[in-house]
Amino acid sequence: MTNLFNKFYKKTRDERLSILLSEHYLDDEDYCLFKTNSPLDNDVANSLIENQLTQFPLPLGVALNFLIDGEEKIIPMVVEEPSVIAACSNAAKLARPNGFKTSIETYLKRGQIILTGVTNPNDAEKLILSQFDKIKEVADKAHPSIIKRGGGLKEITCDIFESENDNDTFLTVYLLIDVQKAMGANIINTILEGVTPFIVDLVGGEALMSILSNYNTESLVTSTCSIPFNKLGNQTTSGKDIAQRIEKATQYANLDTYRAVTHNKGIMNGVDSVVIATGNDPRAVSAAAHAYASKNGAYQSMTEWHVQDEYLVGKLTLPMSIGSVGGAISVLPMAQANLNMMSISTSEELARIIVSVGLAQNLAALKALVSDGIQKGHMTLHASSLAIQVGATGDEIELVTEKLRQSPHMNTQTATDILNQLRQK
Ligand code: NDP
Repeated sequence: MTNLFNKFYKKTRDERLSILLSEHYLDDEDYCLFKTNSPLDNDVANSLIENQLTQFPLPLGVALNFLIDGEEKIIPMVVEEPSVIAACSNAAKLARPNGFKTSIETYLKRGQIILTGVTNPNDAEKLILSQFDKIKEVADKAHPSIIKRGGGLKEITCDIFESENDNDTFLTVYLLIDVQKAMGANIINTILEGVTPFIVDLVGGEALMSILSNYNTESLVTSTCSIPFNKLGNQTTSGKDIAQRIEKATQYANLDTYRAVTHNKGIMNGVDSVVIATGNDPRAVSAAAHAYASKNGAYQSMTEWHVQDEYLVGKLTLPMSIGSVGGAISVLPMAQANLNMMSISTSEELARIIVSVGLAQNLAALKALVSDGIQKGHMTLHASSLAIQVGATGDEIELVTEKLRQSPHMNTQTATDILNQLRQK
């Protein structure tokens, strides 16, 4: 990463944008989009949601220092919480020079056809599995364009669920589908609705519903990093101590749901910010991530951290439900510009970045928690929000923020007092 990014946080918005342009993270068109901060076209906004009134702006910033699978990445994040981007960029720096290494074993999405009233579910399951080729033919006809793009139905599995309440039995048919670059909700739902009548004809019963599952356990994406002890230490605590305390903090999050939720919320700070910046659906990603954190029967840490030789080694695996085309992604100009900034051409590439950001975010939070405490960094950055809250504008914001940082009590009253004093001068 070039020296131009040094002290990026101290540069003006125009200077930051000029650097991104000169370093080719933004092309001319995307630069203009960012520079003019043009609101969403009304027709686009109206086509996305119902009863549209206006737009709800959130800040978009960039996380720096990321090296993912050997490639430098500048990562756009949309988030309203101070310190998320700073912490993420700091953690990404700690992970250098090796950076983050990612892996994906399979990348398929899942749909389910839920049947009730099937006379013999076990026999029905065998029949369905034996008819894979015919079902695939129906599925391919339901969505020919995804076949042309190299995707489509790849695998079928079934499960049988007994309801305790009314003694009903559900036979669920899972379709595992390659949706290529899309998130795939509409593609999957179209295929499911095409296949459902064929399945009902085959085994009888009634379809309760046919819908994708957002729990994408066949799209597990893993990111790992290793941080040498000498990068973790501070004036009071050695790097080895901090590494061991991070390992212990993760073990603790596996024992106590109260801690696990906050531990994982920090990971989702990073994950959701990139998901939103790219026009993807944070609800789908979050629901799947939290379900995966419960895969062992209790809600636990999404990350694993352990000490190995002279390193702290971290790992995050998440089921990813995202796309790089389709839905809002293809409609929102800012989402397109953000994908361009990261040179994304497939949804797998984006998934690798998002999971790496989640891992970095967790490292930053844990490092602060087991050493200085979270408030030191957080409140420092919170100072400028407080300054704006009490009415500071223009140059006043920086002046109030600076004085607030030096105050023993950083709160609204102190910020108001500082602003009043400033205005009396
Ligand atoms: P789309 O319906 O937009 O389908 C993807 C589109 O991208 C298709 O039109 C496809 O074109 C086009 N495309 C272009 N290039 C490619 C490529 N290389 N690979 C794949 N598709 C390509 O989006 P999704 O099916 O992804 O569905 C996502 C939408 O569904 C989101 O808006 C989401 O909010 C919504 N949704 C979500 C649900 C959930 O999460 N539970 C439920 C229901 C809807 P072509 O057809 O020509 O191949």
